[in-house]
Amino acid sequence: MAYLTPSYEEFKTSLKRYINNDEDLAFIDKAYEYAKAFHEGQMRKTGEPYITHPLAVADILSEYRTDPTTIVAGLLHDCIEDTAATFEDIKTRFGEEVAVLTEGVTKLGQYKFKGSLNEEAEKQKAQAQNYQKMLLAMAKDIRVIIVKLADRLHNMRTLDSMPEVKQKRIAKETLDIYAPLAHRLGMYILKAELEDTSFKYLYPERYRTIAQMIADTRYNRERDLAMMRTNLEYLLGEHQFEYNVKGRVKNIYSVYKKMESRNKDFDDIFDLLALRVIVSSVEACYSAIGVIHSKWTPIPNRFKDYIAMPKPNLYQSLHTSVIANGKIYEVQIRTKDMDRIAEYGIAAHWAYKQDQKTGMTDLVSQKLKWYSDLVRFTEESDDDGEEVLNLLRDDIFHSNVYVFTPNGDIIDLPKGSTPLDFAFRIHTEVGLKSVGAIVNGKIVPLEYKLQTGDIVNMKTSKNSFGPNDNWLKLVKTSNARSKIKNHLNKQRRDDLIEIGREEFQKEVHNRKQDVPLNDKLVSELFAHKGVRSVDDLFYEIGKNTLSVNMSINALIGEEKYSEQELIDSINRSRKPETSSEMDVIVEGLDNPSIKLANCCSPIPGDTIIGYISKGSGIAVHRTECNNIQNLDQARTIEVYWGTNTAPSYLVNLKLYVMNRDNILAEIINAVTASRAKVNQVAASSNVRGEGNVKLKVTVKDRVELESLINNLNRIRDVYSIERQMK
Ligand code: MN
Repeated sequence: MAYLTPSYEEFKTSLKRYINNDEDLAFIDKAYEYAKAFHEGQMRKTGEPYITHPLAVADILSEYRTDPTTIVAGLLHDCIEDTAATFEDIKTRFGEEVAVLTEGVTKLGQYKFKGSLNEEAEKQKAQAQNYQKMLLAMAKDIRVIIVKLADRLHNMRTLDSMPEVKQKRIAKETLDIYAPLAHRLGMYILKAELEDTSFKYLYPERYRTIAQMIADTRYNRERDLAMMRTNLEYLLGEHQFEYNVKGRVKNIYSVYKKMESRNKDFDDIFDLLALRVIVSSVEACYSAIGVIHSKWTPIPNRFKDYIAMPKPNLYQSLHTSVIANGKIYEVQIRTKDMDRIAEYGIAAHWAYKQDQKTGMTDLVSQKLKWYSDLVRFTEESDDDGEEVLNLLRDDIFHSNVYVFTPNGDIIDLPKGSTPLDFAFRIHTEVGLKSVGAIVNGKIVPLEYKLQTGDIVNMKTSKNSFGPNDNWLKLVKTSNARSKIKNHLNKQRRDDLIEIGREEFQKEVHNRKQDVPLNDKLVSELFAHKGVRSVDDLFYEIGKNTLSVNMSINALIGEEKYSEQELIDSINRSRKPETSSEMDVIVEGLDNPSIKLANCCSPIPGDTIIGYISKGSGIAVHRTECNNIQNLDQARTIEVYWGTNTAPSYLVNLKLYVMNRDNILAEIINAVTASRAKVNQVAASSNVRGEGNVKLKVTVKDRVELESLINNLNRIRDVYSIERQMK
């Protein structure tokens, strides 16, 4: 299909349908002259003068009856990027609002896909950035996105003039980002056109096949529709309805998606036969559906009441599917206003009126729940902005389910939400105290996926254990997730503060010495650790990122704490020790020559066995050591640990960790906190950040080893610990 670019006169005619104020019209004229002058000499790939593009964009915007500021921004939207015009100049001539909008659209354009279609990681990164920019810009002023959507629509209409690689890239981006956005804003007509043109460029074969199938079946379908329409009109007339019946065109891409997602043949997609009934009032919608259902048999579970439960994008309508003449027809019933919103979405709400006072962003915020969430989230969050935005993006771009509270209030949630999402949406306390869920009168597990129409009753208890890590896997919404995370972090912190406090007090008690302790002192001494209070200090001790001895030494002024010095001093002082005075008893021998085997490094507490080797006395192995099992059993001898404590024994540990800053220091601190000694450390990690740390440590006995392993296990990001033979 070829699209004709409107002339400026044609554009003005369509503007005058709703803008009659001379001042506004002059303002728009001025913007057109300005853009035209700056784009002078530039050509589009289509061969037309460049000004045809911003003009077409403004024309699309006028179809949505946007305010003069938005129209002007549409005319100027490529000036900052592509011409000598500057933000300042536009601000001086057209005011700050226009300048900010124009710049906003320009900035959005700068986050484009960089990678090719096959570079998955690159693509996702670029896409995430795209979403983020989009959402942030949207939160500030929704009109930025409206102009961008109009811009994209015109670019899609003229995509033929681009090289094929570019066509596919732009089409993919449109399908991934802009069409869902248009959907969320309820701009159905724009969304459908974006989808179909993208689909055509991305999958030309499939597009042609489906378009062909639709064309091939058109005759029969139109005959069936005409017959049903006549019957419907007769029925409605008989019952004195004021009505208007239209056939409905389903867009090609949505037919394709339905075939894909439901694995259906083209012939099985029955809502191709769709009719739309427009009546005069909400009451008339309900009585019309009653009349229709009494005449034709409705298909169970196909009736949907989007009037009582509007979709999050404000769509309202009654849907039903009925059987007539052996065919299935989908019928949508709604009022004229609802029909306009169904086609133009949010834009229909803020269609420009001269006396309009409320800003569009505020208005949209009042109307669209997800949008007010977005604005609130971006205002509240600072550092975690990125994560919040990613989660919110999922909320926004996933389709929804509608469930009821026991009182009949409707809650909308993203598809895949669980009772916990519901609970946290009701109230944070309800979420935190949840112990179970009753859905439609039956107890369901917390991982139950809510369905539209479910009546959800959360069971709470004062004695609830509260959230655990597993809850994070169960929830779908950003809201529930961030509340659970906050709670877990706080709880973990409280636990660790208690552990740290106990350790600290125990050590102070042992030393029988006064230790000064106050917020000011600890924040001076441990500022580099982010410590600002005594609780912070206990927290660091509790999670083993500060050793209790080092902390106390620093507090009493004996030693300044430095992580690097600590590691250095440990590594300097701990030379590998070979134990010469092993406390091993061999029955019947007074002073045997004993050697602890290097292959398995036994320590007191391990079950051991001796092996009489020629010339070098008795080698002591752990009974599970592979080597001893392969040796001549006749030469083994029973040996026992004595009761005298020998100084120290070497143990090899291997830790599997997720590599991050400070993890090595935390591990070494945990060793010294357990009174063991570090002899050797070797660490390595792969590109994914998974690593292992090999530790050679000296311990007194098995009890000390166990306490060491416990301490190591408490470190975040240490996944497992193995004691190794070597
Ligand atoms: Mn443009």
